[in-house]
Amino acid sequence: MTASTLTALFLLALFLSGGIRLWLSLRQARHVAAHRSTVPAEFAASIELTAHQKAADYTLAKGRFGRIELALGLIWVLALTLGGGLQLMHDLLAQWFEPSKLWHGLALFGLLSVAGFVWELPGSLYYTFVLEARFGFNKTTAKTLILDTLKSSLLTVLIGGPLLWCVLWLMRSMGANWWLWTWGVLIAFNLAAMVIYPLFIAPLFNKFEPLKDEALAARINLLLARCGFQSKGLFVMDGSKRSAHGNAYFTGFGAAKRIVFFDTLLATLTPEEVEAVLAHELGHFKHRHIAQRVALFAVLSLAFFALLGWLAQQPAFFAGLGVEAHSEALTLILFSLILGPFTFPLTPMMSFWSRKHEFEADAYAVANAQAGDLVSALVKLYRDNAATLTPDPLHSLFYDSHPPAAIRIGRLKAAA
Ligand SMILES: [Zn+2]
Repeated sequence: MTASTLTALFLLALFLSGGIRLWLSLRQARHVAAHRSTVPAEFAASIELTAHQKAADYTLAKGRFGRIELALGLIWVLALTLGGGLQLMHDLLAQWFEPSKLWHGLALFGLLSVAGFVWELPGSLYYTFVLEARFGFNKTTAKTLILDTLKSSLLTVLIGGPLLWCVLWLMRSMGANWWLWTWGVLIAFNLAAMVIYPLFIAPLFNKFEPLKDEALAARINLLLARCGFQSKGLFVMDGSKRSAHGNAYFTGFGAAKRIVFFDTLLATLTPEEVEAVLAHELGHFKHRHIAQRVALFAVLSLAFFALLGWLAQQPAFFAGLGVEAHSEALTLILFSLILGPFTFPLTPMMSFWSRKHEFEADAYAVANAQAGDLVSALVKLYRDNAATLTPDPLHSLFYDSHPPAAIRIGRLKAAA
């Protein structure tokens, strides 16, 4: 493969995936706007026109924001690669760090992270403090945001730094099979993170308190016993500290497995509805959806690392992406920049797989709780999260991890 072939392929993937994303986003906007004036018949009794219109406006605002982000993302990738940005950073750091040393690679990652943070800062501030705030969802204060940023930066340096050092060292020292070693280390790290995250990291950002509502806890414990599920406790998280959006989830596995409810969820749902939502989450667990996800991630990442092992040996890989220098760090950075456009065709497949899991979890919830409770819980969540009930079918097919409201609720009602 020559450098110019790679450049052409890269530009094709970048603009083709960008073009499809733009087209889908515009389709979604047209579809939602066209259905803004009437609540779909099946929801007419449960969702008011004002709530439906708020959902449409929220979806349209997020779509406009997404299209600007898409353009900014394209500019960023092009500026770093063919625009010479990475080469510039590489040369700049060479004044302080010998380019053949691993420190130089570590510094390059650091500089790139800071530059990326600054590039994205206006967008993320706008999203939280203007867009989310306009629809009444933002609860984050400037203080929380600054503390969050400081804490996550510190964690990135303390955990990401040594991990990155280890990866760069393996790339340099393990010969032709370095990619296999690197893959092994990353998989081990990911598994460790699944245990460490809920116990030590998440509590740095949120308060987790045992569920105090005894009647609700008793109800949930009955459900858990019925489903044969052991957990390390029921917790309530202060999700309201940052956002009004509600959720419930499981984290960890083995001894660290716990059930977490957002306080925002408990505030809006009845105990019966909470039970039905939890039964749905238990369905994901019983069908081993999380384990399947981890396994797929392991297989896919092995394939990507094998590809990276080969690409790293091609001089065209660097030259074709606008970089003259060669280093382990540049190999990883270039690969991560081009991975998105080239793996874009996987998006609809992953979405399809995820929606299949949602149907399976719903079926489990119907078998172990009341379908009617899940329906009313979902309607409240759609309404309170201002999720659109009228997505463009193609946009939904491509991106949605959850089935469209009408189809999902239709199935639940048929089962009730
Ligand atoms: Zn689910």
